[in-house]
Amino acid sequence: MIKHSERQPELSLHRQVVGAGDYYFDVIRAGQVFRILDLEGNQAADTLFYNAADPSEHYSFTDTIREQGNLYLTAGSVLRSNEGRPMLEMLADTCGRHDTLGGACASESNTVRYDLEKRCMHSCRDSWMLAIAEHPEFGLGKTDITHNINFFMNVPVTAAGGLTFEDGISAAGKYVELKALMDVIVLISNCPQLNNPCNGYNPTPIEVMTWEK
Ligand SMILES: [Zn+2]
Repeated sequence: MIKHSERQPELSLHRQVVGAGDYYFDVIRAGQVFRILDLEGNQAADTLFYNAADPSEHYSFTDTIREQGNLYLTAGSVLRSNEGRPMLEMLADTCGRHDTLGGACASESNTVRYDLEKRCMHSCRDSWMLAIAEHPEFGLGKTDITHNINFFMNVPVTAAGGLTFEDGISAAGKYVELKALMDVIVLISNCPQLNNPCNGYNPTPIEVMTWEK
């Protein structure tokens, strides 16, 4: 569902451009709103969410999909935790559909899907691991990496129940906006993948903005 936002970037608390292959790692307080903006289009933002007070509670795609009765995320979706609690609500979405089934790219899946020589290529899992290593203050470890959302990524489910990574439906300037319903840790890998069309074979920057409400 396409839904625009009236929030003005000039009134945001914080703005950060995240380069292709880089990460965003911060706490968003309950009631605050943040936007992920696809600056140049066709870019996937692989995102993890944790309860800042207890990171063993995290975003769960199974709980989210079951409760909303829809495989795709868009405006109106409530993102739920592994304890079934609402963590965030998607307030606005100018892209229309976001994937939460495809998982994130990793060295291992790159070798299985593409070629053994792809093993050393930069992946979202590498970016998350680097973020966790560089920021021990968030209290996350390797085993906390779990279900993620691929904002702006187009992963249609076929009639036979298969998944395909398709060319993106996002474009320059499209965004998604979420309200935190608890204090959440947000960890985004701005996907460096070059082997499938999730980034149009050309990873580009995103921008994250936050507002007090
Ligand atoms: Zn990726």
